[in-house]
Amino acid sequence: MSDWQELERKYFMYTGDRVPLTIVKGEGARVWDDKGRKYLDFVAGWAVDSLGHCHPVLVEALAKQANTLIQTSNQFYTVPQLQLAEILVNNSCLDKVYFCNSGAEANEGAVKLARRYGSLKLNGAYEVITAMNSFHGRTLAMTAATGQEKFQNSYVPLPVGFKNVAYDNIEAIKEATTEQTCAIMLELIEAEGGVIIPESKYLTDVRAWCDQKGILLILDEVQTGIGRTGTLFGYEQCGIEPDIMTLAKGLGSGVPIGAIMAKGEASVFVPGNHGSTFGGNPLACAAGYAVVKYIIDNNITENVKKAGNYFLDGLTGLKQKYDVVIDVRGRGLLAAVEFNNDIAKSVLTACLDEGLLINQLKPNALRFMPPLIITNGDIDEALGILDKVISNLE
Ligand SMILES: *Cc1c(COP(=O)(O)O)cnc(C)c1O
Repeated sequence: MSDWQELERKYFMYTGDRVPLTIVKGEGARVWDDKGRKYLDFVAGWAVDSLGHCHPVLVEALAKQANTLIQTSNQFYTVPQLQLAEILVNNSCLDKVYFCNSGAEANEGAVKLARRYGSLKLNGAYEVITAMNSFHGRTLAMTAATGQEKFQNSYVPLPVGFKNVAYDNIEAIKEATTEQTCAIMLELIEAEGGVIIPESKYLTDVRAWCDQKGILLILDEVQTGIGRTGTLFGYEQCGIEPDIMTLAKGLGSGVPIGAIMAKGEASVFVPGNHGSTFGGNPLACAAGYAVVKYIIDNNITENVKKAGNYFLDGLTGLKQKYDVVIDVRGRGLLAAVEFNNDIAKSVLTACLDEGLLINQLKPNALRFMPPLIITNGDIDEALGILDKVISNLE
């Protein structure tokens, strides 16, 4: 057997430190490493594997589509693309969709759409207000949109047209709004930024401000969308509707696909404005359609709500038991735990030894984003491991 970690050091660009684990197989909420050891997966491909690993419904849809038609270009009509478009539109407040391949690409498209809206309807306004501590992806423009200096420093000068302001602060948005503003782009929960949940009034205030100013509200639901927070889309629980919404992560349950969705009035692209070679290809869309249909038909969001509350209750129990745990927050199956010192890496490593995969969010915080089909039994197992690991560290 090859030493995969040695191959990585030799051939792969060093853009981040990996957990020392080579995963070769997955099924449901479990994965196996190259030595045959089994792990419970509370990372799920970074909130991507919504149906768990290799769900039979997804695998069958992919196999069938792979045997039928994989790629045609968007010069032609293809069936899975239109089935996925229909199910997304019919189950959301948005009217139109365009497919791409990732979250960053969806957000790029959303900003292009907002700029075009600005050029047509707002006297050429082009600026997009985003939040500090946000995460919108890794392309150059989304690096400018992402209000975190650590991602921006190496890449100045950044593309113009983005203003990063404090999150959960309507006044900051009001102050930053000018004649040049065409849109405000926000996450409903700052996920990569720490699973930061704003005051509920914030989002309704932002919506009202956009309406008052005639500017667009773009919701980046790349992480919160497709059931993750307990409803098919996160906005359903926030009392607001976006003008533009982006999706990716959980949409294909592991197959790369993203989407830009828009209300009719905001859907201002005309032929030639936007495009993609792979975006919306039959294979990716067959995956997306199978995933979304499965989630709707089987009321998976109910499980997300129940399992999510069960998990948050369990984490809150750990907070009550251990002084090192100072905060527990989350919605649905997106949760974080914060410690009073930088022990997240030690906890992660000890959990790995115990057969549980988790994500380090910050030196002092962990994130959990298990598959949406997670059971209370799996959650008990994860909580048991966390309990043991934290008690050993205290
Ligand atoms: C992950 C993420 C992105 C970027 O998605 P990629 O597929 O990695 O480009 C954008 N926005 C949010 C909210 C995300 O969580």
